[in-house]
Amino acid sequence: MNYRHAYHAGNFADVLKHSVLFALIEALKAKDTPFALIDTHAGSGCYALDSEEAGKTGEYRDGIARLLFPDLHGTGQGPLPALLRRWLDSVLALPGNEQGLKVYPGSPLQAAQAMRATDSAQLCELHPEEASRLRELFHHDRRVHVHHRNGYEALKALLPPKEKRGLVLIDPPYEAQEEEYRLIEAALKAALQRWPNGIYAVWYPIKLRSQVQPFLRWLQRCGARRVLQAELLVHPDDSPLRLNGSGMVILNAPWNLDQVLREPLQAMARLLSQEHAASWRLDWLIKEGDTPVSQTRHVRPLPQSKRPG
Ligand code: SAM
Repeated sequence: MNYRHAYHAGNFADVLKHSVLFALIEALKAKDTPFALIDTHAGSGCYALDSEEAGKTGEYRDGIARLLFPDLHGTGQGPLPALLRRWLDSVLALPGNEQGLKVYPGSPLQAAQAMRATDSAQLCELHPEEASRLRELFHHDRRVHVHHRNGYEALKALLPPKEKRGLVLIDPPYEAQEEEYRLIEAALKAALQRWPNGIYAVWYPIKLRSQVQPFLRWLQRCGARRVLQAELLVHPDDSPLRLNGSGMVILNAPWNLDQVLREPLQAMARLLSQEHAASWRLDWLIKEGDTPVSQTRHVRPLPQSKRPG
């Protein structure tokens, strides 16, 4: 287990993942009854952007910083979609960010920030140091339960949650490469049997498109009622050597999630576009009997004259 999220916190993949997470939590909050969040791969919960790790890669600069400071990158054309604005405001409202973006909250802290007093979170993290930081971060929060254990295995014990509604976030480091998809499929299969109505959101990296396809095909016969796929690519998906983009698949997604995410994805593609056109994709892989319709869009890269530096 070598992966440390501190090197990547706030990058373009986190921007996609966490804005989708934010939209899902907003959808759950539309009802008064409490919900449960289960985060199978939680990380340490919060990341200092002036740390040695974040400084080494500077990945947040081509991620969340581009949304916060679009004028610096020549991409500032009009206001952000309301969902992205609310998400950024919630990040900036965290302790430590009073003077601007200094800390980037991971999925557990973003969720805890958005949850109500009656909602609950179960956080699993296998790495001992990350788990102990996570426990320290939430020791005062009675809504949040930290488990130092394998998130895939913990699902069996944690599902279905007593609230009977909620969300499972599966965000592994993919150190097992393509084998990770087989672990996810097995976990989802067992989870859907125990809790067929839960919402499941899975993040995946995009290097070579062919590496993701078997998983996407598996999802089409996984038994969920609806599966929405949201992707954002800042490079073409034809190189195994770097992270070209990432995606989220949402099983049992709220019926209007595609409408909620369309404008934010369009804006993220414009703001996060690097030397190539960024592209985004929003497809229902399954929608209660409908045939899937692809809505891939491309955004032109910035002209050289408008690029920083
Ligand atoms: N979800 C976090 C966020 O959005 O802020 C980031 C999680 S990071 C991509 C993946 C984390 O999973 C790492 O902290 C790693 O230590 C942990 N991990 C790896 N294998 C695991 C497993 N089987 N169960 C639980 N945690 C695991």
